[in-house]
Amino acid sequence: MATQITLIHPLQCPPFQLKTHNPQKQCHLFKREKRNLVVSKLRAAVIGGGPAGSSAAEALATGGVETFLFERSPDTAKPCGGAIPLCMLSEFSIPSHLIDRRVTQMRIISPSNIVADLSKTLKPHEFVAMLRREVLDSFLRQRAESSGATLLKALVTNLVVPTSTREPYVIHYTMDNCQHQLAVDVIIGADGANSRVAKSINAGNYTTSIAYQERIKLPEFKMGYYENLAEMYIGNDVSPDFYAWVFPKCDHVAVGTGTIGSRPYIKSLQRGIKARVKSKIEGGEVIKVEAHPIPQHPRPIRVRGRVALVGDAAGYVTNCSGEGIYFAAKVEECVGKQ
Ligand SMILES: Cc1cc2nc3c(=O)[nH]c(=O)nc-3n(C[C@H](O)[C@H](O)[C@H](O)COP(=O)(O)OP(=O)(O)OC[C@H]3O[C@@H](n4cnc5c(N)ncnc54)[C@H](O)[C@@H]3O)c2cc1C
Repeated sequence: MATQITLIHPLQCPPFQLKTHNPQKQCHLFKREKRNLVVSKLRAAVIGGGPAGSSAAEALATGGVETFLFERSPDTAKPCGGAIPLCMLSEFSIPSHLIDRRVTQMRIISPSNIVADLSKTLKPHEFVAMLRREVLDSFLRQRAESSGATLLKALVTNLVVPTSTREPYVIHYTMDNCQHQLAVDVIIGADGANSRVAKSINAGNYTTSIAYQERIKLPEFKMGYYENLAEMYIGNDVSPDFYAWVFPKCDHVAVGTGTIGSRPYIKSLQRGIKARVKSKIEGGEVIKVEAHPIPQHPRPIRVRGRVALVGDAAGYVTNCSGEGIYFAAKVEECVGKQ
């Protein structure tokens, strides 16, 4: 059960009243009453409803902080392989019905088709969990809401950083075709690799790689081959920097690759991995094509004032593997609990 705590407002801020940009569309108005001493809950905005944002929002709301979780597109999926480590299931109480596949066979395949069996490192009860991000993310967002966070299906368009420590941050956002503003005390920037929050606080840049993935629905008899098997292919034809993969999902496989090279180049690498697995995916139907940058190292600045960047926005990804889901959720949870 969540412990509700009331905090003295750290800003002891003067009364403020915010209006929407367009006076014709005053969909939302936030007011605070004039009081000598402002005693209120701390108000936090978490921008981005991926694993980072949702677990931060859950931790903040559980700790009694008035929490707003902004997610621009809760109905779509973040491009991702969706492989998570076993420890994440217990640490984040992820119910087993969310898992598409329990991978116990992991193979790395060389350009000359020599196979290294990574499964030997797994203990008998261990596996790699494969999930679809649309399933995981919506579960984590719902849990944040159940803990008391307010989920706003909204695109954050601007963040106004105050000039003094006593003033609030002002978030501009678009929701239901209306423009709104919200004043908050603290911000968690969990808005991924193209983070707007990072730009607003001049957090500096990082190098990114680009990852590309096709979800391919296979005929049932071919899907059987990938029942509990994940494959990773190496070689210049599929990725000069990393590896290409075939990860099994409920009724399809995710076939993808990544490179720090140029974006047009990624498509020729994708053709490379599809050629390598041709016989295994032949007859399959591409049901989704997705691509997204992956940070290669942390940003120079991850905290400025009362803003903290986390997850991909901060650059917390293992750069050789592109793994970031667990770190996003973990770091955000820690920040939320601070
Ligand atoms: C193709 C690919 C495959 C990958 N495979 C794996 C894998 O198998 N395992 C693994 O651990 N990691 C993988 N990763 C990395 C992993 O996807 C990320 O590290 C992880 O998603 C980071 O989580 P996050 O919450 O920080 O950011 P994100 O998941 O990117 O979430 C950011 C959220 O913010 C929202 N948002 C952004 N801007 C705004 C805005 N202005 N207003 C409102 N909302 C906004 C976005 O809609 C998004 O939902 C992969 C990445 C790619 C690209």
